[in-house]
Amino acid sequence: MLATCKQYINGHWETGVTLGESENPSDAADPVSDFARGDARQTDDAVRAAAGARRVWADSTPQRRFDALDFVGTEILARKEELGRLLAREEGKTLPEAIGEAARAGQIFKFFAAEALRIGGEKLASVRPGIEVDITREPVGVVGLITPWNFPFAIPAWKIAPALAYGNTVVFKPAELVPTCGWQLAEIISRAGLPAGAFNLVMGSGRQVGQAIVNNPLVDAISFTGSAAIGCDVLKVASERRTKVQLEMGGKNPLVVLEDAPFERAVDCAIQGAFFSTGQRCTASSRIIVEAPVFDRFVDAMRARTASLRTGHALASDTEIGPVVSNEQLAQDVRYLQIGREEGAQLVTGGEVLERPTKGHFLSPALFIAQPQHRVAREEIFGPVACIIRADDYEHALALANDTPFGLCAGICTRSLERATHFKRYAEAGMVMVNLPTAGVDFHVPFGGRKGSSFGPREQGRYASEFYTMVKTSYTSA
Ligand code: NAD
Ligand code: MN
Repeated sequence: MLATCKQYINGHWETGVTLGESENPSDAADPVSDFARGDARQTDDAVRAAAGARRVWADSTPQRRFDALDFVGTEILARKEELGRLLAREEGKTLPEAIGEAARAGQIFKFFAAEALRIGGEKLASVRPGIEVDITREPVGVVGLITPWNFPFAIPAWKIAPALAYGNTVVFKPAELVPTCGWQLAEIISRAGLPAGAFNLVMGSGRQVGQAIVNNPLVDAISFTGSAAIGCDVLKVASERRTKVQLEMGGKNPLVVLEDAPFERAVDCAIQGAFFSTGQRCTASSRIIVEAPVFDRFVDAMRARTASLRTGHALASDTEIGPVVSNEQLAQDVRYLQIGREEGAQLVTGGEVLERPTKGHFLSPALFIAQPQHRVAREEIFGPVACIIRADDYEHALALANDTPFGLCAGICTRSLERATHFKRYAEAGMVMVNLPTAGVDFHVPFGGRKGSSFGPREQGRYASEFYTMVKTSYTSA
């Protein structure tokens, strides 16, 4: 079951400069693929191919774009079980989560297939007599898409689909931990009837392939999702080149639980948001801020629920929490557990590296009671580690929720319409959830954050056109 994954450049499958092996985080004895790894030169080939296809794809009809994207979406949906298995094998989320993600990728392609039919403009009368003004949207050109490992189908889909729908050509670089999923997506796209060069896949390291995309002056726009540190580097180069750029970075998302919250539902939201997908979600609820009167009861309920979560092989039917994605990520999680203890945060449960029948990166979900200034309560860990923080009252909880350099998603559990309304208004985040986990978003509405979490226009839904198109204003005198 070892796949061989090649680069896709200018309509051809090509070997790379070196070969990588993609591992299964649940089972070291089950490698997923041998994959091509490119360098800067091969990346430049892909960018040139995308530049060469600019005109023909920009001039394609909405019908042609619809047909191509609808083909991709239809095939992904028809194969969602198989694709979900691949995703669970390579990234380590559980099979139901992985099938759900594959289906979401299919729905995203279908959504943007239809968006290609709806690209509109405006027509206004000029303030001067006898003149008409048209406002139209044009493709940006060549877009470089750089993605992280944690949603290997959904994030590439929500970049590739709008890029192509709005008439851009693409160079796509998946994360090195999940090349097989990126290649699988490319394999489907390669049969969708696009002109050669309109879509290109280059696998390889961030240093070589990623940087070559960012540095290439033929790239007109860069959409990056990943860590804040790399995002800053990308932004620096992009701003020197005055290239359009969109960054989605980390989070340290608060979930506020008020005294009047529906209690069991709040526990569900916290468990789901903190630990599902092994906590490896930028929208994970990593700061659970609980109002004092229910604090002890909430901690007890969380301890019991957290300790009962079954951690194991991503494909096992009784697994609730899959493995950590890699050895390095596991080391980072363990380092933060150590930092938490050293700083005086109180470990409530979990945080043990687990042995399972297969050799994988298993960590039991960990829960701290932390102070707001603890590093485990401030820095993104990106693993199954969450903090509970005590708040005196609602105002205090809101202040704690906003006391973070990040601003992706914020949640509140309460029965009070007044509090929920106030929180929606004053939470400093791009997305707000009321009586819902912070993670788990729809595919047809904008996604993104504020402060250190995001830069540039929103992704997803029709708001994606802000990034993937340029506005032109034309004046005509008859
Ligand atoms: P990462 O920043 O290490 O890598 C992201 C991508 O950038 C990868 O494809 C990587 O190869 C590439 N890259 C690395 N160095 C580069 C460079 N110098 N130039 C250009 N590209 C480079 O992130 P990761 O470890 O893959 O993913 C985890 C991070 O992603 C977490 O911080 C998480 O919060 C974030 N994330 C954010 C969102 C969001 O939408 N806000 C979604 C998912 C993940
Ligand atoms: Mn990384």
